[in-house]
Amino acid sequence: MNAVGDCLFCKIAASQIPAKVVHADEELVAFEDISPQAPMHLLIIPVKHVSGVGHLAEAHDALMGRAMRLAAKLAADRGFGESGYRIIVNSGPDAGQSVPHLHLHVMAGRPFGWPAG
Ligand code: 5GP
Ligand code: ZN
Repeated sequence: MNAVGDCLFCKIAASQIPAKVVHADEELVAFEDISPQAPMHLLIIPVKHVSGVGHLAEAHDALMGRAMRLAAKLAADRGFGESGYRIIVNSGPDAGQSVPHLHLHVMAGRPFGWPAG
């Protein structure tokens, strides 16, 4: 795992690397994915580094609840509340996690197959 100092998403949270930020507060930042896989493809990250869902502690419970509610709000604000959206968290190599800083993908604007690929 990256040290926090090398972490791409820590740098985005700290505005050291540019991103199209759509929401920022003390605990969470949401921004557009650089390689969108759907008409809406946002990433929500905790400001404080967490490598992935396997590293969540009880102290993060409220934060993750907020992250899920933010995902729903961002999708609804963009008109996808009724048509639907998908929230994805990849964990580890088999799931394709490529950035070791916990992030929710929030995607909408096209139908998504199931089961997920
Ligand atoms: P993962 O594969 O870890 O689940 O998702 C990482 C996501 O981060 C990918 O969808 C990828 O396109 C996105 N990503 C990687 N580097 C950057 C970057 O520098 N800026 C932004 N905005 N997104 C990035
Ligand atoms: Zn980080």
